[in-house]
Amino acid sequence: MTETDPDDTPETRRARLILGLRSQGVSEPAVLRALEHTPRELFTPELFKERAWEDSALPIACGQTISQPFIVGLMTQALNIEPRARVLEIGTGSGYQTAVLSRLARLVYTVERYRTLLGEAEARFKQLQLGNIITRFGDGAEGWPKQAPFDRILVTAAAPSEPKALLAQLKPSGILVAPIGRGPVQTLKRYAGDGKGGFKEEVLCDVRFVPLLEGVAREL
Ligand code: SAH
Repeated sequence: MTETDPDDTPETRRARLILGLRSQGVSEPAVLRALEHTPRELFTPELFKERAWEDSALPIACGQTISQPFIVGLMTQALNIEPRARVLEIGTGSGYQTAVLSRLARLVYTVERYRTLLGEAEARFKQLQLGNIITRFGDGAEGWPKQAPFDRILVTAAAPSEPKALLAQLKPSGILVAPIGRGPVQTLKRYAGDGKGGFKEEVLCDVRFVPLLEGVAREL
C-alpha cells in the first residue's frame, strides 16, 4: 500500500499517522493529542498539501524543511513538558513544531534567521489563535538571554557541537533536546539538568536536520 491513497480522506490519513507514531514509541497521550490537533496541511507548501499527513519531512521556503512528524513527536516527548513550562525553540521554520509545543506549554519563545519563514509562521499562529507564542527574528545560536532561564529548550537545526550558550540559558533542572553533529546525519541528544549545574546526557537516535547557521540570513 502506498502511503498516500488518493481515495483516503484527510481524517483517515491523520488517524493512520497518529496510530503509526504510537506504534513507533510516541506514546505520551498529551503529545499525540497535540500532533492530532495541529493541522499540518496549514504548514506545508501548496504543492505538498496532499502529503501533509505522511510521516516524512517536506521542503518549505528558503531551502529549509518541515520536520517529519515522528521526529517532532519524539523530540516533544523527550522534553517532558509540564503545563507551566516556558519553552525556547531555535529554528521556527514553518512553525509546525512551535504550534505543537504551544499546545503543551504555557509560553513558547521561538527564534528564526529567515524573515520570510518567520512572517509566514506568525500568520499561521494567528490563524490558529495560538496566543502563547512569542517570536523573534535573530540568531538562535545565541538563545534569548533576556527571557532566560527556560524550563525547556528545543533546537530544530543541527548544532555542530554541544550548544553551550543554550545550555547556559536552561534552568538547573531543565531539559534541552538538540541534533548534534556536522555531517548529513546527526545524533539527537537530550541534556537533563541535575539541579546542581551539571547535565545527564542521553543519545536518542540518528536524525537528519538542516544545519544551525551563524547570524541572520541576508536574503529574505
Ligand atoms: N521546527 C521547524 C523545522 C525547521 S528546519 C518546523 O517544524 O518546520 C530548521 C530551521 O532552523 C530553519 O528554518 C532554519 O532557517 C533555522 N535556523 C538555522 N540556523 C538558525 C539560527 N542560528 N537561528 C535561528 N534559526 C536558525
